[in-house]
Amino acid sequence: MEYKSTRSNFTTDSLNAVLLGPAPDGGLFIDPNMDCTSFDWKACLKLDTISMSKMILGKLLPDFKDMDSLVEKAYRGRFETDDLTPLVKVGPAYVLELFRGPTSAFKDVALSILPRLMTAAMEQSGEQKKVLILTATSGDTGKAALEGFHDVPGIKIMVFYPHNGVSLVQKTQMTTQEGENVTVCAVKGNFDDCQTGVKKAFRSLGSWAEEHGYRLSSANSINIGRLAPQTVYYFAAYRDLVNSGRIKVGDKVDYCVPTGNFGDILAGYWAKLMGLPVGKLICASNKNRILTDFFNTGVYDVKREFFKTSSPSMDILVSSNLERLLYLAFDKDQEKVCRCMEKLQSDGVYAVSSDILEKLSKDFSALCCTEEESQKAISDVWKNYSYLMDPHTSVAWHCAMQNMGENPVVVLSTASPYKFPQSVLKALGQETHMDEFDLMDALNKLTGVPVPKNLSGLKGRKTRFDNVIENNGIEDYVKEALWK
Ligand SMILES: *Cc1c(COP(=O)(O)O)cnc(C)c1O
Repeated sequence: MEYKSTRSNFTTDSLNAVLLGPAPDGGLFIDPNMDCTSFDWKACLKLDTISMSKMILGKLLPDFKDMDSLVEKAYRGRFETDDLTPLVKVGPAYVLELFRGPTSAFKDVALSILPRLMTAAMEQSGEQKKVLILTATSGDTGKAALEGFHDVPGIKIMVFYPHNGVSLVQKTQMTTQEGENVTVCAVKGNFDDCQTGVKKAFRSLGSWAEEHGYRLSSANSINIGRLAPQTVYYFAAYRDLVNSGRIKVGDKVDYCVPTGNFGDILAGYWAKLMGLPVGKLICASNKNRILTDFFNTGVYDVKREFFKTSSPSMDILVSSNLERLLYLAFDKDQEKVCRCMEKLQSDGVYAVSSDILEKLSKDFSALCCTEEESQKAISDVWKNYSYLMDPHTSVAWHCAMQNMGENPVVVLSTASPYKFPQSVLKALGQETHMDEFDLMDALNKLTGVPVPKNLSGLKGRKTRFDNVIENNGIEDYVKEALWK
């Protein structure tokens, strides 16, 4: 199997694709024949989650010699349960808890294994250079990546997050990170500025890095090593519904995904292409409803106001992974992808035809949720079902409730409520004038839901990184920080 760029005929194997991150032409890697892969998805449903991961990752990343042992080391004993991503019945839907990993965010599922994939790829391909990972984060990727990559030999990692654009818990998680090979830096701008800056650094610093013995790579969901592990929990949720007698093998299930960079939901689409009977993938957005507008009108227009919301990890206007979906929707016509991406670059907008829109609507629905609706969802779900959700999950919950059809619906829950105690307490009508750790305690007293240890343990940790740079300063910063 070969991975191919969405923008040119550049192809490579899965080892190199994981090491590269984005393709050299600025495109993203995809398996162009994903839709006709032969994958025994029914056999996969008989497995436990860790065994499922081995089978699915073995299929999607076939060049890794020792996938089984990589999966074991990444997951066994590292999540709250070896089930990794438990499925919980909540009222009329099912909540897929993706936040039971070491940093309490769904990014852990992929970032627990990505560093292992990278080191394995380096060893197998005889790569002599070290790897420098540049990562833009809207809050959760940063910490999950730092946790996964700290002190991994041969790898350095630099994380850029939006100054004042993440929750205090998220910020504390990152700025107190231990490890000799990590750097964390705030950027005066929003997530899109961080992502644009990092993408620019990729283009301009490649040969500079090579000269200094490094190759650049990415831990963002543009890396196939991020996407592939995320397909697993779509299968796991389906298996759990089968095993609990709720559905029969072959019945369709809808998945509602709180979406930012379009990575999580794209992984669901991959699962569908591999044969899993997915009904609709519901793309849930917050007030930054660019994807809702795109799926409903065919116009992707970033020339709009950017809102900071209580679901910061979804405050994104340039959803990178949509490019992969476009490539498939355009019947693998890379020229069409290039034209859209050029229009996006030059005019801040592109449009697709009504045929394409119709095609997309077979697999996707798209809805959005206001701040008020998101808060109300947290409070309603707590009052009615005693289930506590974070402000990203509540966006998806709200959208799922607007879209209830015949299929069972799985709502993907992407973060622990304790990462956002202020928003959650406010939604529950409580006082929130305290520091973030007192807020965690207050939320715990009110609900009895346990605080994840990795979060309660942050209190009193020393800040190691307090740099704030201008939003055009990422390239210079990288050059300096490499030597620290
Ligand atoms: C990253 C993130 C999302 C968005 O996921 P994408 O793959 O970027 O669409 C949603 N919720 C939380 C809590 C996240 O950390």
